[in-house]
Amino acid sequence: MQDRIFLSPPHMSGNEMKYIEEAFDSNWIAPLGTNVDKFEEELCEYVGINHALALSSGTAGIHLALKYFNVGPGDYVFCSDLTFAGSCNPILYQYANPVFIDSEPETWNMSPEALEKAFHWAQSENKMPKAVIIVDLYGQSADYDRLLPICEQYGVPVIEDAAEALGATYKGKKCGTFGHVGIFSFNGNKIITTSGGGMIVSNDEEAIKKMRFWATQSREPAKHYEHREVGYNYRISNISAGIGRGQLQALDSFIDNRKFIFDTYVNKLEDKPIRFMPISDSGSPNYWLSVLVLDDSTSVTPEDIINQLELSNIESRPLWKPMHLQPVFEDSPIFFHGETECVGSSLFQCGVCLPSGSSMTEAQQETVLQIINDIFTPVKK
Ligand SMILES: *Cc1c(COP(=O)(O)O)cnc(C)c1O
Repeated sequence: MQDRIFLSPPHMSGNEMKYIEEAFDSNWIAPLGTNVDKFEEELCEYVGINHALALSSGTAGIHLALKYFNVGPGDYVFCSDLTFAGSCNPILYQYANPVFIDSEPETWNMSPEALEKAFHWAQSENKMPKAVIIVDLYGQSADYDRLLPICEQYGVPVIEDAAEALGATYKGKKCGTFGHVGIFSFNGNKIITTSGGGMIVSNDEEAIKKMRFWATQSREPAKHYEHREVGYNYRISNISAGIGRGQLQALDSFIDNRKFIFDTYVNKLEDKPIRFMPISDSGSPNYWLSVLVLDDSTSVTPEDIINQLELSNIESRPLWKPMHLQPVFEDSPIFFHGETECVGSSLFQCGVCLPSGSSMTEAQQETVLQIINDIFTPVKK
């Protein structure tokens, strides 16, 4: 059997070892060190923001941001519905209540219409959220020119979950810079990986300082260990940060590769009863994953495609299952884009994430395309 083609595997650039070796040579494999400081600086430079805090995961970043906005037991937090659970699990860590906001059809990101409805509800029920978590899905920016004024109008801060969108832009600005704080993930399947890690970015120096304090066990400045607040062990290691520095240098080329892969899928499957995630002309995505959606007119199902690819040892997946459909969040309210129709749920029912790794070869993609083609071509008798 041929080597497995993964959805989005790690892709080392070759520069990572240099920074890892530096850490070994100076015996500075842990805890924090030069690589961590430099990784923060270099990422700030890349996205065009003033302050950053490197962490053990993106989820830790969302947790610290919620804590920063004083989210506590009984509070409400709005969050994109079509996302990975890492976006909203931290709401439960703080014993607060998630309220889910459906997607709009244009970019599959948070619907401004649904967000308005949620705020009207919150106002009439006296359940104003402490924060709104807006996700940049599959590497494409949400429509911030429409979303941010709504949040501003109600005076509620925005946490931008750009875990999937490092390198993507919206109206010339990089994703991660639109909320009061932005979060990135360097988990194994993301566009760059440190094997595991995350980053919070912000222009609010005080906010980053406070979150840095909590992320390092809330150690008060004293010779002995003094703690006045609860803390967390959320920092990244100097080794992982070294991987991140090497990865960051290759990010733009990874985006080019992924864009090429996306364009190839779109062109080669043009005549099939499918469409791809719409690309808004307000920005350029990082093309993290190529996602197709089957037309109503076809009897082919996502399972048909996923199972057929699996027979050839190729990984593909359904879209994120919307959060309001997850048993763990079943009691949480959801606000739809339309009257009764949930955009996210219909996408989930008819979508497939295709192999999109920046290291996938043209021959490998050709294999994937061939299999999909065959599914749609009726067998000749
Ligand atoms: C991956 C991801 C996260 C969580 O990041 P981790 O580093 O895995 O904790 C959060 N939100 C979204 C949208 C993600 O895709």
